[in-house]
Amino acid sequence: MHTDARMLIAVRVVAVTTLLLATLIIQYTVRELLPINYLYTTAGLTYGLTLAYIGVGKLLTSRKLNLVIQISGDLVVETVLVYFTGGLDSPFSFLYLVSIITASMLLYRRGGLLAASGAVILYGALADLMYYGVLPLPEQSWFVPTPWSSSRLYFNMATNFAGFYATAFLTSYLAEKLRKTFEELDANRQNLAELRALNQNVVESIPSGLITLSQEGIVTFINPAGCLILHQDAQSVIGHRIEQFGFYAAGEWQGVPRTLTAEPVVRSEKNDFQIGDETRSLGFALTPLNSIEGMASGYTLIFQDLTDMKKLEAELRLKDRMAAVGELSAGIAHEIRNPLAAIAGSVQVLKKSTALNPQEQRLMSIILKESERLNKSIADFLRFVKPQEKRPAEFDIAASLSETLDLLGNSPELGAGHTIEHSITPPSYTIVGDGDQIRQVFWNIARNAVQAMPDGGTLLVTTEVGDDHYKIVFSDNGRGMNDADQRRLFQPFRTNFPSGTGLGMAISYRIVQEHGGRIDVTSREGVGTAITVSLPVSASIQNAVA
Ligand code: ADP
Ligand code: MG
Repeated sequence: MHTDARMLIAVRVVAVTTLLLATLIIQYTVRELLPINYLYTTAGLTYGLTLAYIGVGKLLTSRKLNLVIQISGDLVVETVLVYFTGGLDSPFSFLYLVSIITASMLLYRRGGLLAASGAVILYGALADLMYYGVLPLPEQSWFVPTPWSSSRLYFNMATNFAGFYATAFLTSYLAEKLRKTFEELDANRQNLAELRALNQNVVESIPSGLITLSQEGIVTFINPAGCLILHQDAQSVIGHRIEQFGFYAAGEWQGVPRTLTAEPVVRSEKNDFQIGDETRSLGFALTPLNSIEGMASGYTLIFQDLTDMKKLEAELRLKDRMAAVGELSAGIAHEIRNPLAAIAGSVQVLKKSTALNPQEQRLMSIILKESERLNKSIADFLRFVKPQEKRPAEFDIAASLSETLDLLGNSPELGAGHTIEHSITPPSYTIVGDGDQIRQVFWNIARNAVQAMPDGGTLLVTTEVGDDHYKIVFSDNGRGMNDADQRRLFQPFRTNFPSGTGLGMAISYRIVQEHGGRIDVTSREGVGTAITVSLPVSASIQNAVA
């Protein structure tokens, strides 16, 4: 049963019981016999009907139908009571109003008018039947009815009926108004709850950091993304001054609100943002925060970590440039190579001519030597801009190293004053990588060391097997490098050697990096240089090379 119907039953039982008890108390205190038999009758009737209502309520689920049945029953009981207590003279006719008000409140205008009409019909019929003597006066009635004139009868009925309808109209009007207000309030409350949830969701789930600040620059809120970016938890940020977190230098905050009067948003970027022991780039925007009433209540600071984006951007830019330059210069290099081959070939033929005197022979040799050198530079350059594909395999790095050093030891580049010493232990050690490329790295570095000692000297090569790296150190006691040269060591086309191209170290750097290793340099001008190559030996090399 609907709560309204149940409520009505409860209120009715309480009301009737209270009335009954009150009457009994009065009867015993005044010790006068009241004509309350009829009261017992109607009370009994009400209790009986209550049981019926409960039964009906179990069968019918409709709220409206239950209420209509109950109110109709009430009107009938009231009519019975009015009849027993003197009809037109009964003091209980006001009870109709109670039912009309109940109907108006619970069933609104239609229910109220229906109840008023029911009361009019029942009360009118009763009055008429009693007036014309069709219904006999009940015996023992305390309220002895006075004879009524017909005009008084009609006047009485008219005022009662008007009262019934007026009550129905007024009460239902108020009840309906109340219902509408409640509905609106409910809708508003729901909207507010939804808005709040939306707000919460937006703030919690945006990937940007969000901080709200009081006018004085004290943090009042930070969202989860903000905590993540700053590596802080909310408790250690809220309540603290914003300068503490690196957005503004000490004292800088004071000037910030002034700039906001000119612009609605102040955007900034800081590349030396210290978060933990990392330096990051952060972009942030400050906007004034107004309360609902439009009063300035503080600021919002929205921020993003731009570090990775910037790095990516720089890499892309470099790659782009390298690709463009590489493509173009590789094309030019090829264009030079072909005529160069023709020149060298022709000179080769001319050189064989017997008509040449020794001086001319010498010049021809120079042309040949220089074109060979140019050809080699171009080959190096092409290798640099268009690296060959790696062919990773297991190879003996220790053996490769000693072979390369032997080769260099027997090459014409090695002067009388040069010695190459090495201690390669163990003499055999296998790693995964492209053996040819690694051999090229050894050659480039060892040859540089020899070239750096034009007046002779010693190249010492040692190896070391670490936990996860194989390390080779090439140390010479040549002329060494100053700081600027060291910094530019790996840049292409930087050369200080008379016949250099400046590509050897650039290529080596690239190869070692592609193998997941690294090259380190320590050098002192006039003293010597040590170049350390370390290559990973663990399974990770397979990944680095693949
Ligand atoms: P290249 O040998 O064609 O000049 P590299 O890339 O091999 O090009 O070397 C670049 C430059 O680095 C050399 O010209 C030289 O100035 C310097 N350099 C390289 N290795 C050494 C070294 N062991 N000692 C001193 N300077 C060196
Ligand atoms: Mg070199």
